[in-house]
Amino acid sequence: MEKKGIIFDLDGVIYDITEAIKKAVDDGIEKYKLENVNRDDVMEEIAHLIEEIQNYPVPKILLNSFELLEVKFLEGISFFKKLRFAIFLFNQFNKYKEAESTIFKGIDELISKLAKNMKLAILTNNKSQYAEEVLEKFNLSQYFDIIIGFNDVSEVKPNPEGILKILDKWNIKPSEAIFIGDMTTDIEAGKAAKVKMICVASGLAKKETLQQHQPDILVENTDELIKLFNI
Ligand SMILES: [Mg+2]
Repeated sequence: MEKKGIIFDLDGVIYDITEAIKKAVDDGIEKYKLENVNRDDVMEEIAHLIEEIQNYPVPKILLNSFELLEVKFLEGISFFKKLRFAIFLFNQFNKYKEAESTIFKGIDELISKLAKNMKLAILTNNKSQYAEEVLEKFNLSQYFDIIIGFNDVSEVKPNPEGILKILDKWNIKPSEAIFIGDMTTDIEAGKAAKVKMICVASGLAKKETLQQHQPDILVENTDELIKLFNI
C-alpha cells in the first residue's frame, strides 16, 4: 500500500528527552534515598507521569494527585512524601530539559527525505507551541504542514482524535498513513485510528511493555527506524 502521510510523535521519536528524565530520576533517588529501585522501572513510570500531567492544569493535577502518584516505585511511601518527590522530579526535569535535550541522531535527515514524497505532521500530547519551538530550534518546521497538541483536541492520546483530525485535513484514508510513536498510549491511538503503527523503543518505555501492546512494527532505536524506510 502506497503511503501518503506520516504522523510523528515528538518527545521520544524526534526529540530526545531521555537524558533529562534520567538525570531528574537520579537526583530524586539520591535526594529521597530510595533504595532497591530499578532506574528503568522508574523511567517508564515517570515518562508516563510526565506525559500525562504536562497537559493538565494545576487544579486537575492536585485533584488527581492521589491517583497519579500510584506508581510502583513509590509504594509504601506516605502521600505527602510522594507529592514532594514528584514535584522535585518535575522541577529537575524542567531544569535539565533545555540543556540536555536534542534531536535523535539522523532523524532530521530522515524527515527531510520523507518530506519529498509525502505529507508529514506532528501529534503530541504536549502543547502545540512547544512542538513549534522544538521544530524551529532544529530547523524542522518547514517539513510539517500540521502540528497538533493537546490544545487542539478534546481527547489526547490514547484517543485517536488527533490522528483522525490530521487524516481528515489531508483527506487520506487510515490505510494510507503511518503513525510513529514511542509510548503505549501512541500504540493504542494508532491502533484505534487503524493506521500503520510503528513504535520506537527510544528509552522511556521498556521494549517488553511496548511489545505487549502489539504495534505493527517495533524498532529498537532511530537507526533501525531509518533502516526501515530504506531511503
Ligand atoms: Mg513520545
